[in-house]
Amino acid sequence: MPKQTDQCSFCGSERKGNNLLIAGLNAHICQTCVETAHEILAQELENEHSKKLKGFKLHTPIEIKSFLDQYVIGQDGAKRVLSVAVYNHYKRINRSTLKKDNNDVEIEKSNIIFVGETGTGKTLMARTIAKLLKVPFCIADATVLTEAGYVGEDVESILSRLLQAADYDVKSAEMGIVFIDEIDKIARKSDNPSITRDVSGEGVQQAMLKLLEGSIVNVPPQGGRKHPDQKMIQVNTSNILFIAGGAFDGIEKKIASRLRTKSIGYRGADDFQEVDRENLLQYIAPPDLKAFGLIPELVGRFPVSCHLNPLDKEALRRILTEPKNALVKQYVHLFEMDNVELEFEEEALNFIVEKSIVFKLGARGLRSIMESILTDLMFDIPTQKDIKKITIDRAFAEEKFSSSGITKLMVA
Ligand code: ADP
Repeated sequence: MPKQTDQCSFCGSERKGNNLLIAGLNAHICQTCVETAHEILAQELENEHSKKLKGFKLHTPIEIKSFLDQYVIGQDGAKRVLSVAVYNHYKRINRSTLKKDNNDVEIEKSNIIFVGETGTGKTLMARTIAKLLKVPFCIADATVLTEAGYVGEDVESILSRLLQAADYDVKSAEMGIVFIDEIDKIARKSDNPSITRDVSGEGVQQAMLKLLEGSIVNVPPQGGRKHPDQKMIQVNTSNILFIAGGAFDGIEKKIASRLRTKSIGYRGADDFQEVDRENLLQYIAPPDLKAFGLIPELVGRFPVSCHLNPLDKEALRRILTEPKNALVKQYVHLFEMDNVELEFEEEALNFIVEKSIVFKLGARGLRSIMESILTDLMFDIPTQKDIKKITIDRAFAEEKFSSSGITKLMVA
């Protein structure tokens, strides 16, 4: 029998003073009980997150690197640097969230910056790390960002993507990884402050500082530009790992000039002779990033920098077949779904690699070349039930390649 009196059905107290009583179908609940229930819920959620964190496995650098090895060919130096940085980053999170020790030494964030030509595996490395750690991951394109108030996206929209990737679970987004692509494109346009504001260059760099250093940021849930009427979600960025990548076209000149000055200033001019001038990127250091146009504060927030090597013939050849989700494996699987066995002759693969070198798109070119060779087959196969096996030889690859429109894209 429902109570007719104005009494809380949970604690029995009556409506008194400021204690509101909310009526339901057959019951009432008082303000105090609502507040207590809210606290219990919050506590439960908090416990869930702590459990999740406790279940978060800390991988050693060797484990991280060997996982990367399954997906990324070459780039040994970068893999080692990344493995250590990620290990330290999550050690830091474990310590701060689980309060394992009482040492008050503060471990700083180890955001990372990758420098390397397009298609050498910068995004792939970041993506693979996120896969291993099972944390939310997003890719943000620095070129679309502008200073708040200008046409373009506010820097906070980077975190909107991360929230989306985390299904709006703020706690889990706060442990995620963000890959900021094309960071070199927000370099300062010139050394002299100009009359027109540099809203997509230095302005963005300034705005990004707050995100990178670890602070509470108001994030528009749907991304884009902040809108006064929009409800914001507060995200703490102190445990988010930021990995930035860029090609930094022309930075070799800055590296060379730094190395030259150094060798004249401190040692002998001979030292510069020992420098491997074919691959100057390997000597990349923070002053070069500054010389390229990143503001010192931003460079300072990426304490770990490493380079990715251009991919040579041998690396490209291995990329075709060796990684866990290698291109050849993917196409073989696609054909398998149509009950056709697909095979590549060694020479056909060599042809793809040779053309990819001409493309100068790193491993990115491999896929488009592969598509140009296989598109006709993929068009016909589903309806030609009598075909059970296809072997791609060099002649076939050459013919399909040259008759496709792709040759027009070739860099001379
Ligand atoms: P970028 O350096 O421009 O970020 P990506 O990481 O996006 O390049 O690489 C483009 C594609 O090329 C990836 O999807 C991946 O399949 C392939 N790729 C690039 N570098 C490597 C590598 N070192 N090992 C394996 N695959 C690679």
